[in-house]
Amino acid sequence: MLKIDIDEIDRTDCGNQIHQLIQELFPICRSITGDGVRETLSIIKKHISLDICEVPTGTQAFDWVVPQEWNIKDAYIIGPNGEKILDFKNSNLHVVNYSTAINQTMSLDELKGHIHTLPDAPDWIPYRTSYYNPGWGFCMTHKQFLMLEDGNYEVVIDSEHSDGSLTYGEFFIPGSTKDEILIFSHCCHPSLCNDNLSGVAIATFLANLMQTKESRYSYRFVFSPASIGSITWMSENEHKLANIKHGLVIAVAGDNGHMTYKKTKAENAELDIAVQVVLQQKGLEFDILDFSPWGYDERQFNSPGINLSVGRLTRTPNGCFPEYHTSADNLDFVKANALADSYATYLDVFNVLDNNYTFINQSPKCEPQLGKRGLYRKTGGHKDVGKRELAMLWVMNMSDGSQSLLDIADKSKLDFDVLVRAAADLLDCDLLAIA
Ligand code: ZN
Repeated sequence: MLKIDIDEIDRTDCGNQIHQLIQELFPICRSITGDGVRETLSIIKKHISLDICEVPTGTQAFDWVVPQEWNIKDAYIIGPNGEKILDFKNSNLHVVNYSTAINQTMSLDELKGHIHTLPDAPDWIPYRTSYYNPGWGFCMTHKQFLMLEDGNYEVVIDSEHSDGSLTYGEFFIPGSTKDEILIFSHCCHPSLCNDNLSGVAIATFLANLMQTKESRYSYRFVFSPASIGSITWMSENEHKLANIKHGLVIAVAGDNGHMTYKKTKAENAELDIAVQVVLQQKGLEFDILDFSPWGYDERQFNSPGINLSVGRLTRTPNGCFPEYHTSADNLDFVKANALADSYATYLDVFNVLDNNYTFINQSPKCEPQLGKRGLYRKTGGHKDVGKRELAMLWVMNMSDGSQSLLDIADKSKLDFDVLVRAAADLLDCDLLAIA
């Protein structure tokens, strides 16, 4: 039985450690391929013994092909007065990710066609990509854009597309059964914290803790670029998918908003119920979203030919906070307390899934006499039955081999933890057997 005492977690310490890992990863210029992902995975490898896999450019991945590797050394713009007005070294968001190389002098009008800004958030730099549409571009604050003077600009992007590979990392923790829980985090975004260094860092710490625990489920942590990365991982590892019983996409987990769960395509899977029970028991505000084939990699995992039970647990979802995909999604935007709260919530989901057994009552004809086994309080006449006794009565009554503890939690509205403890006591007395 997996038992992680969520209340025992030192949230200040844990939140700070996760934030420190985010700080270490923040400066790296990641993309869907290239050295940025490699460097990121090598830092994660200092925490967990990650397997790092390289899939060559040109490899077929279902309907997709692994693209060329992209690496960038430098990029800048020199203005008409000879001064560097924009420097990739100050923020890797300044360059449209996956830009082709350029080294040219051009007029302001020509340059403007390649500049992206956010008129509604004039102090922020947008994050833009050009993955499957070769081209180049720069991103800057709208404030700076409005100040650009007429004249000629020297425009340099020292980047390279070359045959290489797509890189992903995988970490497997065997449990007592072959059934697996998949944890997926995308690691292709450059200097952006909530989306998704928060997910990457939390998943690293979850893996680090789970390798010290005994659990029924095996855990598989995958760190890969979004979309093409998860597609490539599934294509390369199709033989592993059959053991995956539940999966969570972990992302956007460090902002101050409340938790948001996006259900699996089935929408009433064991995972869907488990996460909802966890969120209800936290007693804080939360949102539940129905499945849609849009968002992060849950849409790949829930595609009809893969059909894994994968949900997505975030705080404020992608696209629903103004800082999303901008330079404002920075180290200040993700908070240690929110990171620690998300971390604890994921662990609680593991707790619930791991302990969600289905039992068979071994004394099903009327209630068994709990008192003679020391399971019932000694005095009678109380107005209410105690929570522990009530939990035992629910578990005994519903354990006919068809109802799991989560079903009983749902029906009884009792805390899952209380039901787990009641079931453990009844198991000890042989009043229950695992179905
Ligand atoms: Zn994103």
